[in-house]
Amino acid sequence: MSQVPEHILQRLRTCTSFPTPPAVAMQVLQLAQNPDLDLGKVADAVSADPAIAAKVMRIANSAMYSRRRQSTNLRQALIVLGLNATLTLALSFTLVSTLKRANTQGFDFNAYWRRAILSSAWGKLLASETGRRDAEEIFLAALLQDLGMLVIDKIWPEVYEGITPFKIDHSRICQHEQNCIGTDHRSIGAALLRIWNMPESLARTVQHSHDPSAAGVDGNDKAFVRAVAMSGELSDVWLGSHNEVALRRVGQQAHRYLGIQPNRLGELFASVREQLPVAEELFQMELFDSSQLQDISDAAQEILIVRNLYQINASEEFQQEKRALEQEHRKLRTETTRDVLTSAYNRRHFEKRLGEEFAVCAERGYGWPLSLIFIDLDKFKEVNDGYGHQAGDAILKTVADLLRENTRDTDTVARYGGDEFVLLLPGVDAEQVNSVADRICAEVRDRKATIVEGKQVGITLSLGVATCNAENQFASSEALLAAADSALYKSKRSGRDRYTLYKSAAA
Ligand code: GH3
Ligand code: MG
Repeated sequence: MSQVPEHILQRLRTCTSFPTPPAVAMQVLQLAQNPDLDLGKVADAVSADPAIAAKVMRIANSAMYSRRRQSTNLRQALIVLGLNATLTLALSFTLVSTLKRANTQGFDFNAYWRRAILSSAWGKLLASETGRRDAEEIFLAALLQDLGMLVIDKIWPEVYEGITPFKIDHSRICQHEQNCIGTDHRSIGAALLRIWNMPESLARTVQHSHDPSAAGVDGNDKAFVRAVAMSGELSDVWLGSHNEVALRRVGQQAHRYLGIQPNRLGELFASVREQLPVAEELFQMELFDSSQLQDISDAAQEILIVRNLYQINASEEFQQEKRALEQEHRKLRTETTRDVLTSAYNRRHFEKRLGEEFAVCAERGYGWPLSLIFIDLDKFKEVNDGYGHQAGDAILKTVADLLRENTRDTDTVARYGGDEFVLLLPGVDAEQVNSVADRICAEVRDRKATIVEGKQVGITLSLGVATCNAENQFASSEALLAAADSALYKSKRSGRDRYTLYKSAAA
C-alpha cells in the first residue's frame, strides 16, 4: 500500500487553496467523540446551520426511516435517527458543502460528484441489505472515498491533463497518479481526513476503498470496508460500461464479499435509481438524467435477474459449488455463535446481542423498549438423577425448540449455561413480554410428551422477566440482566412453574 511522502503531507497541511471543514462539522465531530452525548447539545449544534437541520429533518421523515408519526422538530428527528446517524449525516452535508467550493481546475467536477453521490446511495443500501447498523457511517465513507482526487486536481492539476479519469478504471487511475506524484488519491484522501481530525475508521476505509476483498483489513473492519469498496465498484459499472461482462463481475463480487445474490443485486439497482433524486436534492446537485437511470437499471435487472436465473438453473456445477460454500459458511458461523447441544445461541453471542440492543434502546432515550427473560428448568437435577444424563440432554433440546417456536425471528434465544436459557426481545414492551412469558410457561407445562425410554416426563420452567423502557430505565445491560435474574429467583422461591416481572425497589 502506498504511503504519502512527507513533502506531500507538508503540502496538504499548509495548502490554503483547499477549504477546511466548517466549524459546525468540527463541533459535530467533537460531540460524537463524547461518550456522555447529550441530545440537547446535538440539537443546538445542528440547528446552528438551518440548511443542515432541514436536511436532517427530511431524512428522518423519509421512507428510509418510515414511522407512523412524522417528526415535527429537530429533537424528535434526532430520536428517530439516533444520535450517531444524525451526527454522521450532519457531517456529510457540511463536508459536501465545503468540498463543492473546492473549484477544481481541469477535471470533470460533475463526474466526480456523480460517482460520490451514487456511491453513497449504494453504500447505504448495501449496509441495510447486509443488516448493518452503521448505514450512515458507510454512507459517509462511500461519499468521501475519492476525496483525494479533488486534492490532486487542486494541487497538481497536470496529473489529470489529457486523461478522463472517470472513464478509465479506478485502479488504473491510482497507477497513473503513482507514476506522476509518487502516491495516489486513496492515500491522499486518507491523509487529508487525518489532518482534518476525522475518525480514524473513515480514513482507513478511504485508504482501502479500492479493494472489495478488504485483504489486509482487520476482522471487524473488513465488512465495513467491503461495503464501501463495493459501493465504488457498483458506481463504476453504473457510470461506465454497464454491459453484461461488467454486471456479471460485480454480481459475483457482491455475492462473494457481501453475500448478496445476483438477482437480489438486480433489484437493488432499481432501489438505487429511486433514491438518487432524493440524494441529488439533499446535496443540491443535478447530476443524473432520469431516462438514462431507467435504462441502466433495466439492463441490470435483465442481466442479473432474468438471465442469471436461467444460467443458475443451467449450471449444476455452479449449484454444487454454491451449496458447498453456503454449507461451509453456515458451519463456520454456527460454530462460533451456537451452543452445540441445543443449537440455541451461546452465551457469548447473547451477550454481544444484548450489548447492541441495549445501546439502541439507550440511544433512543429508552423509547425503543427491550425485554429480557431469564429461564431456569425446575428440579432438573432430579430428572438427570432419575432418567440419566442423556434424557436430560433431550429435554434441554426440547426446551430450546419450544422457546424458538414461541418467539419471533427478531428475538434471540440463547442457552446461558447448564439448565439456564435467556430470551432477548427487542422492541417488546412490558405488556407483550408478559404474554410471551405466560405462553412459554403454559406450553412447557402441557408438553408432557417428552418420551424417555417409553416414559413421559413432565417438566416446568421458572422465568424472570425485565423490561427496559422510558418508565423503567436501566443504567447498563448488565443491570437489566441482573434484574431478570433476580425476578427468576423470586419465581423459584414462590413455588416454581411461573414467571415474575421485575419491579424496581422504587416502583
Ligand atoms: P431448581 O428448580 O432450583 O433450578 O433445581 P435444579 O435441580 O434445576 O437445580 P439447578 O438449576 O441448580 O441445577 C441445574 C442442573 O442442570 C445441574 C445439572 O445436573 C444439570 N445440567 C447442567 N448442564 C447439563 C447438561 O448439559 N446436560 C444435562 N443432562 N444436565 C445438565
Ligand atoms: Mg434448574
